[in-house]
Amino acid sequence: MTLTEKILARSAGKSHVQPGDNIWVQADVLMTHDVCGPGTIGVFKREFGAAAKVWDRKKIVIIPDHYIFTSDSRSNRNVDILREFVREQDIPYFYDVIDDPDGKWVFDSGKGNLARQYGSNYAGVCHTALPQKGHTRPGEVLFGTDSHTCMAGAFNLFATGIGNTDAGFVMGTGKLLIKVPETMHFRLEGALKPGVMAKDIILHAIGEIGFDGATYRAMQFDGPGVQSLSMDDRMTIANMAIEAGGKNGIFEFDEQTRAFVDRRCQQNGTKSSYDPVSRDADEKFVYESILDLDQLEPTVACHPDPGQRKKAKELGHIKLDRAYVGSCTGGKTTDFLEFARILRGKSVVIDTFGVPATPEIVQDLQTIRWGDNTVWEILTGAGVQMTENAGCAACLGGPVDTFGRMNTPLKCISATNRNFPGRMGHKESQVFLASPATVAASALTGRITDPRDYLC
Ligand code: SF4
Repeated sequence: MTLTEKILARSAGKSHVQPGDNIWVQADVLMTHDVCGPGTIGVFKREFGAAAKVWDRKKIVIIPDHYIFTSDSRSNRNVDILREFVREQDIPYFYDVIDDPDGKWVFDSGKGNLARQYGSNYAGVCHTALPQKGHTRPGEVLFGTDSHTCMAGAFNLFATGIGNTDAGFVMGTGKLLIKVPETMHFRLEGALKPGVMAKDIILHAIGEIGFDGATYRAMQFDGPGVQSLSMDDRMTIANMAIEAGGKNGIFEFDEQTRAFVDRRCQQNGTKSSYDPVSRDADEKFVYESILDLDQLEPTVACHPDPGQRKKAKELGHIKLDRAYVGSCTGGKTTDFLEFARILRGKSVVIDTFGVPATPEIVQDLQTIRWGDNTVWEILTGAGVQMTENAGCAACLGGPVDTFGRMNTPLKCISATNRNFPGRMGHKESQVFLASPATVAASALTGRITDPRDYLC
């Protein structure tokens, strides 16, 4: 069996499964957020009764992160609905925006978008927060009401996005009927060259198979090339499995995974036991590809979908209005370090926005020093508008007052993961997906630019 099949078989209490089998899978974690949480809670109460209790209060993780830093009162109200539900159900893992368990969330636009407006429990973007807060354990099944839940596959989980109806059912029973997906195999060899990042690997792979090339399939990434990738890198890759239609993305377990997971579970006091899955000799794949990391170049997915692959060096004719680094995919600490490495001592020539995915990443950037300056100071010194309000921000547009949202038909190069029309705001805007390094080089020239032109 493949890694995905092994996890699903174990979770279903079976010795063997094969693609196409419909099996009842036991959830280890159910994650929801402010956009889908209220709907999921509504389904749960409708189907199980107003007084029903969730199947396991310690296996539900609730992370408001999407439409948070906005004056839109309905969005603010969604966070309050989550808080009321958490209180009613006594759910321990709720990463609220405010510290007062009886309070109401209101964003103060008068303070501006840049200065921190959250309490001590806030965790930021759900997919980045889940591992940071010790909720991604190898070998487990994680469901989330968000398509990029597949990011947790970086930690050797079966992790996938589900809709509110399914999530309401999981909330009540802990189970879900799953059709076992076929597995596509991506063997990584070699190591990335300077100026090339994990984002380029996944944009290359999606360009190879198309934005629907992995529809309802598992994407398994393994091979010697994985060793040189950090956990942040693996998260970037697993995150975008859904951009090829994938059911999930999954990596092999190794010592780096173990070190990360053990440290985070210990730090946060979450369950620390787990049982990773390793590869079998008899794996059967529906597709096989070898990705030679040495050969990859800075890659861009052009408007209007993530499969429109081109090399950055071929796109110098595309003039840009805006650059954006942020999101679960592209707003991690290492993403900002690569962004800063290219911008250091220089100035951007177009509007450039930086939105760290989590408060912990804000703290990293404000404490890591290069010479006399923190990375945060290097970025703001280069002209980047950096916000402390970690969250999804303009990655999916959001209400009109969302930081970085494109309210007019602009062209933007972005380290985010999705570029369908209207994704970051105005439906006639255009989004070009790229690595943080390519975004940085492009912000310096106002045109899509190969970051290798700016390597020191
Ligand atoms: S950062 Fe973007 S892709 Fe990630 S969860 Fe938020 S909206 Fe979705």
